[in-house]
Amino acid sequence: MSPSPTEPGQAPRGPDRTKIAYVLPTYNEGENVEAFYDVLAGAVAEREDLDFELIYIDDGSGDDSLARLRRLRAADPRVTIIAFSRNFGHQIAVTAGIDLAAQVGADAVIVMDTDLQDPPALSLRMIELWEQGVQVVYAQRHHRQDTVFKRTTAKAFYYLLDKVTEARIPRDVGDFRLMDRDVVAEVVKYREHSRFVRGIVANVGFRQEPLEFDRDARHAGRTHYSLGKMLRLASDGLFSFSTLPLQIANVLGVVVAAVSVLVGLFTVVAYAFDPLGLHPPGWALPAVGIFFLGGVQLLMIGMVGAYVGRTYLEVLDRPLYSVARLERGVPGAHDEDA
Ligand code: UDP
Ligand code: MG
Repeated sequence: MSPSPTEPGQAPRGPDRTKIAYVLPTYNEGENVEAFYDVLAGAVAEREDLDFELIYIDDGSGDDSLARLRRLRAADPRVTIIAFSRNFGHQIAVTAGIDLAAQVGADAVIVMDTDLQDPPALSLRMIELWEQGVQVVYAQRHHRQDTVFKRTTAKAFYYLLDKVTEARIPRDVGDFRLMDRDVVAEVVKYREHSRFVRGIVANVGFRQEPLEFDRDARHAGRTHYSLGKMLRLASDGLFSFSTLPLQIANVLGVVVAAVSVLVGLFTVVAYAFDPLGLHPPGWALPAVGIFFLGGVQLLMIGMVGAYVGRTYLEVLDRPLYSVARLERGVPGAHDEDA
């Protein structure tokens, strides 16, 4: 019953105002917390017509990140903190933030890193594009200040991902993006445990557009994506959006079996007639047999793989489709019959 909190001299906040939620995963960013907040708060100050909620997820930081976030919250009620009980990883932190943003009824959700690699000013341009009707605005790295190693491995990964997956997962794109509430409503239905959030968002569909930017270097500290974490993310992306690797055994099996049949025929001919004067050695036939059996075994493994792949997809239990809009009950139209 009590009116929503209104600060003096400001437009009233309320459910009828457009609400933008920022999802801000934070892990051991002690040196960046204030610097990032200042830049973000400065950027969103441009849009007094909008309500903002800054959902920080403290992903089990071992430093003073959480204490610093609490200090921010004491001074700014727009700051929300989800404190994890331990480090669950970037993708899970982002997921928790998106879940909460959906629950609090945000009209749009912006996911970004808190190390100032994703410039907060760009998120305001995302909001403008969203206001023009784009439902997902993803930041595409035009130029990135990462190490050569990170750039080349990322490039190879996105190339491979593009080759083997059905969903069009854009290249050079991280998790920095804006999502409309309709998109968020679909994304939160994906409850798989090994998560590749950018793949899920791509998979959901809707009107998605890139926004190019130059990715800066980290403000302070060093990357928390160790080689191990990067490989895990890459395999989550690859395996949760493709069962192609399981079919490799099949293809290999067919090739090996076919070649061994040909070589077998040739050996038999060589034994019987030896038209080329080869004098085939005694082990030729058993060798062919071994190859043939190897091929058959690979083929069978591939078949098991086909079932495992299907079981995997069923266990994921993803939504079968996402409805962009439901139009019904229009008076006078024959929609009623449907
Ligand atoms: N992060 C997180 N949990 C982790 C690792 C990273 O929440 O286990 C956060 C981190 O604080 C940052 C973002 O995820 O805001 C991206 O991490 P990082 O900058 O280390 O990755 P990079 O930019 O090097 O890919
Ligand atoms: Mg970073």
